Amino acid sequence: MSTTGNQGRLWAISEVTKRTPRTIGNGHKASDYFGCNTFTAKVMAEKLPKAVYKSLLKTIKSGHKLDQSIAPAVAHAVKEWAIEKGATHYTHWFQPNTGITAEKHDTFLTIDGDGQAIERFDASQLIQSEPDASSFPSGGLRATFEARGYTAWDPSTPIFIMESPNGKTLCIPSVFISYYGQVLDKKTPLLRSDEYLCQNALKVLSLFGSKATRVFSTLGPEQEYFLIDEAFYALRPDLVSTGRTLIGAKPPKGQELEDQYFGSIKARVLAFMQEFEHELFKLGVPVKTRHNEVAPAQFETAPIFESVSVATDHNQLTMDLLRQVAKRHNLAFLIHEKPFAGINGSGKHNNWSMATDDGENLLEPGATPEKNLQFLVFLLATLKGVYRHQGALRAAIAGSGNDHRLGANEAPPAIISAFLGQALTKILDNIEAGKLKGATSEKQVIALGISKLPEIAKDNTDRNRTSPFAFTGNKFEFRAVASSASTATPMATLNAAVGEALSEMATRLSASLKKTSDFDKAVMDVIKEYVVETKAIRFEGNGYSDEWREEAAKRGLLNLAKTPESLAQLKTKEVKTLFTKSGVYKADELESRYHLELERYIKDLEIEVAALKEIVNTAVLPAAFKHQAQIAGSVAALAAVGLDGDALATQKAEVASVAELIAALKSALTGLDHALEKAETDNLEKKASAFAYGVSEAMAAVREVCDKLELVVEDGLWPLPKYREMLFLF
Ligand code: ADP
Ligand code: MG
Repeated sequence: MSTTGNQGRLWAISEVTKRTPRTIGNGHKASDYFGCNTFTAKVMAEKLPKAVYKSLLKTIKSGHKLDQSIAPAVAHAVKEWAIEKGATHYTHWFQPNTGITAEKHDTFLTIDGDGQAIERFDASQLIQSEPDASSFPSGGLRATFEARGYTAWDPSTPIFIMESPNGKTLCIPSVFISYYGQVLDKKTPLLRSDEYLCQNALKVLSLFGSKATRVFSTLGPEQEYFLIDEAFYALRPDLVSTGRTLIGAKPPKGQELEDQYFGSIKARVLAFMQEFEHELFKLGVPVKTRHNEVAPAQFETAPIFESVSVATDHNQLTMDLLRQVAKRHNLAFLIHEKPFAGINGSGKHNNWSMATDDGENLLEPGATPEKNLQFLVFLLATLKGVYRHQGALRAAIAGSGNDHRLGANEAPPAIISAFLGQALTKILDNIEAGKLKGATSEKQVIALGISKLPEIAKDNTDRNRTSPFAFTGNKFEFRAVASSASTATPMATLNAAVGEALSEMATRLSASLKKTSDFDKAVMDVIKEYVVETKAIRFEGNGYSDEWREEAAKRGLLNLAKTPESLAQLKTKEVKTLFTKSGVYKADELESRYHLELERYIKDLEIEVAALKEIVNTAVLPAAFKHQAQIAGSVAALAAVGLDGDALATQKAEVASVAELIAALKSALTGLDHALEKAETDNLEKKASAFAYGVSEAMAAVREVCDKLELVVEDGLWPLPKYREMLFLF
């Protein structure tokens, strides 16, 4: 009896068909328990002396430095609260350069002088902790200094409690810095960028007579992801090691019928969504929207927006909990940008705006012409920042996974451009044309349509899904961010770029205001200059088209297909100046970021190559050989009974075609080895490029043959779950 290769697949299919939705009880009113596991202002008010409470709130709301003298009282209150809730351990929860979060738990338990066990947590434990920094990526920073790093409490995000089946842990959101104060994490640059944006936005606002004392960026990240049954996942070594399928033939039905987007949500998946939302509500994460995405087995969740720092932490928690809760539902959570070839990949649309402490959204068109002048000023400063720093922004979204979206023929393209929509475009075009020269500024404002801008906010009809950076009425949507990435780096880059543009804007507005006593005219003059200066970054057409590539090249826009050349932008004078001037990265910090991201890219691809070779040698080739042997056996049997002529020739040709595919696969593997040899060098940049092009192409060649084999090898011999099974069986 010949051995079959698909027992695993059959087992998985049988598991999947038996699954039922997991129930966690009927829904409770979310507002009853929202934030119950967070140390909220309400808890603080209850637990802290009034003066301490006020001082802490000031630190949280306005970014004031923490008054160290209140730390003991805060630590005491936090401990009381956490222990009442059943926490036994605490951890500084931080975001090292791995892109995910890190934690090292310590128990509250100590043994006092009399040998008594008691729970203790003091100010120093709240404020600072010293994990061993040497095992986190630092991009060479520690080589020049020393291996010490410490985490420091960042009070801008509420302290929270994580539940797990056998206990609870108090988590203290923290930043991670070296002993000498250099960043070792993703969060610190983000906090610095928000501060820089604040200072410069206030300069502009003061010219408009605003009383705001703080400006901060806001973020609502739409998170896309895939789910497949964990039984299939367990049988795909490529998914387990790399997060994406390295081989897999296109299923007969993919996303062609467009029947998945916003379709009714399958019961098992809905049960999963309800449970993770329940968990996130407890942690004070305001998840708002859930729906099916375009690709089969692809979904999205989006929160109500928050300040960029809190939203970034909450997105990390979201990704973490999605993974954990999926497991409870026997689902595997896939956060990779391109888990399946041939169907849409996943992104994280970063909806971004700027808001004042008195609640004004600075990208919201206003009710009056004056407010709308201010709106245009902030809009144009954003365009200016994005135009000038397209390179830094492209670098901020680079990574091995995103190369499959941005560099390939998929939304959004690698060219950074901004979409404004018809209504705004018309207004900017009119301003540029300057038809109204000589008219009073009031008449101009009316004739240009500026007095009635609020309609734009409602005009969501002309959405452009191909733009990497689209204005959507009262915010921009940075769509090119990778689904698995932390939002910290892209948002820090955007904040820095726009902060710089606002600084320049303030200077130019001040100069213009000196020339005339007509405020509107002075502002309009500057707006007009900016409209002209930023025209090249505006694009309303189809971002996937070849015409756009050509047009963008003519406009001098960057088109960086892959990670190595995108990261190289971090070494340009422009980018260095932006980051050092804004204080977001010091020169050595930026250099270390460049190195560690380049290294990460190479490592990602090395892992993919190893996984691909393993899967080909241990799964694909053995199946192909068995299949070949079966047909050869049948041919031999035919010959043995004396049948020859056409019948035999046809079947011989069948064996020959399988044999040819096997030979082609072998030769593609040799090609991969050659490409790897060529890529071997100590020069990181050369190595990364060789992986991005030579090695990637060689991998694609291997895949091509594997996918052909998948479509001819007997189904009973194929060991790997197929696309149609992973994507459609729930
Ligand atoms: P879409 O049609 O793109 O789904 P939504 O209005 O549902 O648009 O918003 C998508 C995301 O944008 C949500 O997470 C929402 O909270 C966020 N968002 C809305 N306004 C802002 C803002 N001012 N700043 C940042 N994010 C925002
Ligand atoms: Mg959106």
